[in-house]
Amino acid sequence: MWSKGYVTGEKSEKRDKQTYLCVLKSKKATERWLSFCGSSTIEILKVSRRSAAMSRTRNLLSVFTFLVFSVIFLWGAPAASSEIDWMTASLTALESDLVAEHGAAQRRRIQRGLDQVAEFWREQDGGRDEFEAFIKRQFAGDDATLEVMFARYEKLLEQLDGHSLEILLAFREQADLDLGPILPYDEIFAAYDPFAHISDDFFGNKLAFAVLLNFPISSLSERLDVGESWSRAQWAQSRLADRYAKRIPAEVSQAVSMAGAVADQYIAEYNIFMHHLVTQDGERLFPEGMKLLSHWNLRDEIKANYSSADDAGLARQRTVQKVMERIVDQTIPEVVINSPHVDWNPYTNNVRAAAVSDVDEPAPANLAVSNAPEPDTRYEVLLSSYQAVRQVDPYSPTAPTHIDRSFDESREIPEERVVAMFEALLSSDLLERTGRLIEARLGRPLEPFDIWYNGFRARGTYSEADLDAMTKKRYPTAAAYEADMPNLLVGLGFDKDRAQELAANIVVEPARGSGHAWGAGMRDAKTHLRTRVGADGMDYKGFNIAVHEMGHNVEQTISRNDIDHYMLQGVPNTAFTEALAFVFQARDLELLGLASPNEEARALATLDDFWGTAEIAAVALVDIGVWHWMYDNPEATPAQLKAATLRIARDVWNRYYAPVFDVEDVTLLGVYSHMIHSFLYLPDYPVGGMIAHQIEEQIAKSGDLGAEFERMCRAGNIAPDLWMKHATGRAVGPDALLNATAGALEIVATK
Ligand SMILES: [Zn+2]
Repeated sequence: MWSKGYVTGEKSEKRDKQTYLCVLKSKKATERWLSFCGSSTIEILKVSRRSAAMSRTRNLLSVFTFLVFSVIFLWGAPAASSEIDWMTASLTALESDLVAEHGAAQRRRIQRGLDQVAEFWREQDGGRDEFEAFIKRQFAGDDATLEVMFARYEKLLEQLDGHSLEILLAFREQADLDLGPILPYDEIFAAYDPFAHISDDFFGNKLAFAVLLNFPISSLSERLDVGESWSRAQWAQSRLADRYAKRIPAEVSQAVSMAGAVADQYIAEYNIFMHHLVTQDGERLFPEGMKLLSHWNLRDEIKANYSSADDAGLARQRTVQKVMERIVDQTIPEVVINSPHVDWNPYTNNVRAAAVSDVDEPAPANLAVSNAPEPDTRYEVLLSSYQAVRQVDPYSPTAPTHIDRSFDESREIPEERVVAMFEALLSSDLLERTGRLIEARLGRPLEPFDIWYNGFRARGTYSEADLDAMTKKRYPTAAAYEADMPNLLVGLGFDKDRAQELAANIVVEPARGSGHAWGAGMRDAKTHLRTRVGADGMDYKGFNIAVHEMGHNVEQTISRNDIDHYMLQGVPNTAFTEALAFVFQARDLELLGLASPNEEARALATLDDFWGTAEIAAVALVDIGVWHWMYDNPEATPAQLKAATLRIARDVWNRYYAPVFDVEDVTLLGVYSHMIHSFLYLPDYPVGGMIAHQIEEQIAKSGDLGAEFERMCRAGNIAPDLWMKHATGRAVGPDALLNATAGALEIVATK
């Protein structure tokens, strides 16, 4: 399940901050190559049949709990090398032997290498003789030997990654592409992951130990202290060592996977049947058949009602807010979740058997209508995820908590800095000024759900129908888009030869589900651009996504084929490739030969970015707070976690939003489903929002998109701050977004 992509609810609305990230929730091998963008979560999560959904989550939870406790009690603490009785004596002997052989100048390297191997060596890897023979044979005692070794690993791992990825893509082809029915065995092929056992195999055959012996694993603080003075080769070598910085037993990985599956299922089946929400006077505000997945579709319903055709938009928005609050505090009646067979008044919390039916299936005979609340399942699922991922802690010495792994390894920006960036956004007076502007535009005081205000998005000059007609004519098939790519790239600012070269590396294919982009794992392979192409051609939405994905593919091509070390291929993390893809996507109208958005439209888009980035930053602060609370209270019950989450959500609200909204103790910031199933992924969104503005600002300053894009991509996968300094002269931070917002407020104010 780890190679599955996770996306937010929007269907790739242009420049929507929620689609910044094509979300993947773990640092799994495939993450380096896949960007899964802008589509509906429902499509990805494949919402399964609703009947008996909750009991399935409950069953899974109990199996899962058994599994985690099996890990804790049966396997116990890791058999660390310190428990191997001969290890200490052996290390002392080896150190003096190796220093005698290779010279005192190598002593520090020798000590560090020995420590790294000892950290991961287990009884089953061999006894003292085997250990010592291995060390003596595999230690590279001088620079020339080390260089040869590194080059060989780099060359061979490229082959391993590249070919494994080609197998994975071939196995998934029927599932991912619009090629006719998916047969039962296709699903099994699609689920097969050629990367799944590579790490275990490399510890088993000891190729991982050879790396650990010779190349230092660095902590984030070391990289931040000295990384700027490292050579490119040193960076590449540290990326090699990173691959083996943890050795997680299969049972622990399985428990984490299982926790992910339980959480995914819980979230995927959490629908609200909106036609069954009734007001005090029995009115139904939502249409028949409307089924909204929490929280994405609920939030999108709030957004959609800013431009509703009737005058019940505000009432609908308030109702959705009430539903969300009851999900967060778990006063939601269990019987209304995922069920079209009961009517519910979310204000009074009364339920009764549905007075109308908007589904084909009849109500189950044993339907028990009661407003008994959901029994804190939301928090039970979250606690289970926490209990699973903390089993990894003892096997991850350089990042010993999930919070550390999330910030130090996945993001590579220290938590304190990320939090400070979020606070800078949220405590800026721009939040207040933007809030007042929204009030003026709405003609009423702000209400809590207005954190999702989307009315800044400018009405386009061109109608969707006109745009559809244009793109369908130009791109009747995926092949037509592929053939036109060299022209599109010239239009973006690449020179003609380069555009040909880049386009030749991209295969365009019709996606079955949402658009996505697969990079390649080796220089000889091509990248894959997938987008929806209808029977009558590519509509504007499909084109818009294709341009976004093309940004990913061009980044993937340059950062793999045109950089100095395979180990440095790619960009620091998903936020960077998303920001680069948005550079392309923002210019899609120009590529159709139409006028680009004017100054005011751009200013409004910036305000939309700012308001949305601030909102998700606040949500991320809640997520971070909750994870700290769980680590501080490892024995907590679901009820205690709920109380803590509510408190944290209110605190964050009261600190930043209460002064702007003039209302206290709102819990809405706790509603995101990512909090339950994405294991501390949320902070990536606001960081992505800031990065996008830094990159846009730089490209605007230079005025040469093609050259700047190339220059940025060639930095490869170094630390985010170094990448950004190379790209823009400054570390990752909120200033570009804040400056753009201040400018945008001036422009909008004078209109
Ligand atoms: Zn994307």
